[in-house]
Amino acid sequence: MKIAADNSCQRCGTCCEKGGPSLHREDRPLVDDGRIPARCLFTIRRGELARDNVKGTLAPLTEEIIKIKGQAGRWTCLFYDEETRECGIYDHRPLECRAMDCRDTRRIERVYETARLTRRDLLSGIDGLWELIEDHEQRCSYDGLKSLVGEGTGHGRLRQEEAILEIIRYDAHVRRLTTEKGGMDGKMMHFIFGRPLVDTIKMFDIALMKQDGTYRLVRQLSFSKT
Ligand code: SF4
Repeated sequence: MKIAADNSCQRCGTCCEKGGPSLHREDRPLVDDGRIPARCLFTIRRGELARDNVKGTLAPLTEEIIKIKGQAGRWTCLFYDEETRECGIYDHRPLECRAMDCRDTRRIERVYETARLTRRDLLSGIDGLWELIEDHEQRCSYDGLKSLVGEGTGHGRLRQEEAILEIIRYDAHVRRLTTEKGGMDGKMMHFIFGRPLVDTIKMFDIALMKQDGTYRLVRQLSFSKT
């Protein structure tokens, strides 16, 4: 989808500070030719909680999205220079950034949920890696975790806790394997396998605690889902 060149963005930086854009199929050439390196991306997988900056809601995704990473633990887009208030890739900024006008959101609303780029689009041609991603997705899906978290009490509950821990361990293992044995850049892991479950498991109101050298799950009374 082409966005008119008369986008009257004032470069105030507000939208860049809320987080990098999700990518759409139209943005694929930017990744293919390295103007947006894959190590600058991360995946939010299907079923994972994500904030919809257009609707202002927080909900599990029905399909995965690929986004530009934030800066050092913050949401501010990696390419945003806070000092100069400039975008490092302004001439090649993705579709959502070109469509964004915070004073008139009709254009971003039109493109926001259309033809989003996925890992399948970018990585399914890479033999070996794609099979690993599919296997990880099957073993570590958020739908699967949700069903394990949501059921059981007593001994049944304990068995499920072990199953959840096993999934979290596998998620960590496959990342280690891909970097240490596969020689892949560690900065690619959030793109290839999504964010680590050890960080995202809190979306189910549970936390990981280390006790006597082993991890166990603890139900949290409340936490802020961000
Ligand atoms: S790519 Fe550029 S315009 Fe888009 S959010 Fe990042 S800094 Fe802002």
